[in-house]
Amino acid sequence: MTDPVVTRFAPSPTGYLHIGGARTALFNWLYARGRGGRFLLRIEDTDRERSTPEATQVILKGMEWLGLDHDGDVVSQAAGATRHAEVAHQLLAEGKAYKCFAAQDEIQAFREAARAEGRSTLYRSPWRDADPATHPDAPYAIRIKAPQDGQTVIRDRVQGDVTIRNDQLDDMVLLRSDGTPVYMLAVVVDDHDMGVTHVIRGDDHLNNAARQMLIYDAMGWPVPVWAHIPLIHGPDGKKLSKRHGALGVDEYQKMGYPAAGMRNYLARLGWSHGDDEFFTDAQAQEWFDLDGIGKSAARFDFKKLENLCGQHIAAAEDAALLQELQAFLAVTGQPALDDARAALLGKAMYCLKERAKTFPELLEKGHFALAERPIVPDQKAAGNLDDVSRGILKELTPHLQNASWTRDALEAVTTEFAENKDTKFGKLAGPLRAALAGRSATPSVFDMMLVLGREETLARLTDAAG
Ligand code: GLU
Repeated sequence: MTDPVVTRFAPSPTGYLHIGGARTALFNWLYARGRGGRFLLRIEDTDRERSTPEATQVILKGMEWLGLDHDGDVVSQAAGATRHAEVAHQLLAEGKAYKCFAAQDEIQAFREAARAEGRSTLYRSPWRDADPATHPDAPYAIRIKAPQDGQTVIRDRVQGDVTIRNDQLDDMVLLRSDGTPVYMLAVVVDDHDMGVTHVIRGDDHLNNAARQMLIYDAMGWPVPVWAHIPLIHGPDGKKLSKRHGALGVDEYQKMGYPAAGMRNYLARLGWSHGDDEFFTDAQAQEWFDLDGIGKSAARFDFKKLENLCGQHIAAAEDAALLQELQAFLAVTGQPALDDARAALLGKAMYCLKERAKTFPELLEKGHFALAERPIVPDQKAAGNLDDVSRGILKELTPHLQNASWTRDALEAVTTEFAENKDTKFGKLAGPLRAALAGRSATPSVFDMMLVLGREETLARLTDAAG
């Protein structure tokens, strides 16, 4: 039996959870969830100056909104500093690392001389092979003894084999002279200790993988499966900018995209399963694999995002949609729907969700169910309530009074009324929309009548008829 899959998302809490990070998290989540594995969350907060607790909260909230639940506790990388240092000391004790007493200005001078002579500026410490008897009683950094010839091959599941000549790697510092571990060491130790089997992350970390492999090899630890995924670009193929959608996921939440649509779209950003565009979480978990990740940068496309979000809204259960809508109202600082309105909107959901791509669109379509009498028409709708139209509404109202409240009956009454007036039903629709919703774009007038019920419909028509 193969080992269970363990993936992780390891964001640095220095800003918001941007769309690229969210996609990385999603890929790791899908990979683990589809294989009965574990998905872990580690906050890489070793950069004490740039990391903030607020940024960590933003990441946690973003993950929660996206429904990317992680297993176990959130791991703080900074909290593991003692363990990271311990590994550096172990390598030192095993002769796989050495004490380097070089001061910063010596290293600087080495680099400048190398540059002037056209040599590689990779630092070669004179302490690598120094006799311990010559060691001064001074602070030292611990450097790894990297192989100086041969090559390191990163077997990447997305990029293929990536070969780095070992003479291009230096003896990197593991532990600084002040005793603090470097980031690269912390990542490897944490991934190992957390039992991470697959590292799926942005290809901006590919170079780090070569250096991280040195540590795995020195410790004799199994190297995880690497999958370095191409970054996300804008629709024009250029680096993703704010204008293109390089925003925090909280912005997408506030724009009113449903989380399921967002997950679907992010999954399709750089990964494919045949021609499938729209899919459920269950399908994504079943289908997601590393082979389906493309080698070229994915392009962010708002149109596709909206299209998928529309399909997810249409496919969602009404109750779930209402719940998400309330959450949307809360994050955008709008009042929650009271029970009566939520119930009416729930009743209307069947005729709202077919063509709404976002929650604001859904709310706009559902305005008729949320508005209270007297209905105040917007400017466009008010244009449909001239004297003639109001007169027609006045005449129509008694006919509806006696109709049985079914779609067929309502349609029959209205159509017959229009025929008798020698006009088309289309001519009645504008005034009816204005009277019932105060809008010119609404669900069908019959749907509105059915949702509102006889009493409320007649009252609104009477109000409008004046
Ligand atoms: N903390 C890194 C970042 O936010 C990720 C490191 C990793 O995945 O190994 O880019």
